[in-house]
Amino acid sequence: MSTCCVLPHAGDVPTCPMNGQVAKPVGRKTVESLVIREARAALTAQPYYFCDATDCDTVYVSALGDHLITKDLLTVRVGIKETEDPIPLCYCFGYDRKAVRDDIRRTGKTDIQKAITQRVKAGVMTTNAGRRI
Ligand SMILES: [Zn+2]
Repeated sequence: MSTCCVLPHAGDVPTCPMNGQVAKPVGRKTVESLVIREARAALTAQPYYFCDATDCDTVYVSALGDHLITKDLLTVRVGIKETEDPIPLCYCFGYDRKAVRDDIRRTGKTDIQKAITQRVKAGVMTTNAGRRI
C-alpha cells in the first residue's frame, strides 16, 4: 500500500495537554534560561513548545506532552500569561508594558522598541537580572 496519502498522526503536532491548543516551537536556550534551577535539572532531552493561551498556567510542553512547565517554575513573568502589571515585553533588557505606556503618556510616543533594536545590534544581550546570555 502506498503511504503517500497517510496523514501525520495527531502526535506530530505538539499540543498543550491542558487546553489542547497547538503549541509553538521554542528554543531550548530560552527554556533553560527562564526556568528555575530545579526545573532546569528536570528538563527532558525532547524539544519544548510554548503554549500562548492567556488562561493556561502551562508555559512550556515537551514534544511528547509528558513534561509540563507551569509559570510558577519560571524566573520571570511571561507577559502573555499575565493580566496585571508589570507585564514584561522584553526579558533581555527588562522593559515591561507599563514602561511603554508611561513613555507614550509622557511624550506621545515610545523609543523603547528602537532602544531594544539598537542594543541587540550592539550585541548587548543580558537578562533583566543582569546575567549575560
Ligand atoms: Zn496551555
